[in-house]
Amino acid sequence: MRLDKFLCETTELTRTLAKKAMHREEVSVDGEVVKNPATQVDAHSRVQWLGRTLILVGLRYLMLHKPVKKPVGVECTARRGLYPIVTDLVDLPKVERLQAVGRLDVDTTGLVLLTDDGQWAHRITSPRRQCAKVYRASLADPLEGKDAEAAVKVFGEGILLDGEEKPTRPAELELLSDHKVRLTIYEGKYHQVKRMFAAIGNRVEALHRESIGDITLDATLAPGEWRELTADEIAVF
Ligand code: URA
Repeated sequence: MRLDKFLCETTELTRTLAKKAMHREEVSVDGEVVKNPATQVDAHSRVQWLGRTLILVGLRYLMLHKPVKKPVGVECTARRGLYPIVTDLVDLPKVERLQAVGRLDVDTTGLVLLTDDGQWAHRITSPRRQCAKVYRASLADPLEGKDAEAAVKVFGEGILLDGEEKPTRPAELELLSDHKVRLTIYEGKYHQVKRMFAAIGNRVEALHRESIGDITLDATLAPGEWRELTADEIAVF
């Protein structure tokens, strides 16, 4: 990689500012001052700017246990709005390059995958992949008896949501107790789980994502904590 690109990747400098820094003899490679921006360097080169050693960050793959920060939530967005954003919870350089793979609502907790590998993210979110997402929901009204059987059936067949033209893909509903369910869906429509329960006259009071495909939220991660994915987890997609 060219030295000016390396500086852009590892610092807040733009290409122009990187060239100016080199011109001012602020940059060295393996102990030698270098002024030519086209000089080739790699991850093994010891590049320093104003005495600071710069480390090239590779592609990153993380899982985060998204918390609900009372009294507000945490948003899965790159743009700062009303609420704290998920990357505020990750203490890594160039954190703004990480994107959440499929969003959760501000008040939904659980598994969020973060990466700066756009192709990997696309493989997970591509509708063609029909990746399974498993949610645990607490419901406002009890779901039992005949109503529960009807819900399992209608979710299994697909249900038409308000404002949609096509029904949802078949989903699996598991009853955990009269107010708690586990739902597996294979797409990611806006507010999908909440809208599915609204469509049968119920309301989701709390929602938590347990897994995406074969990647399950690590039970040792407390809300707000994250860890890097293992090579096996990355290879799932
Ligand atoms: N479905 C919802 O309604 N909300 C989420 O955050 C995720 C799925």
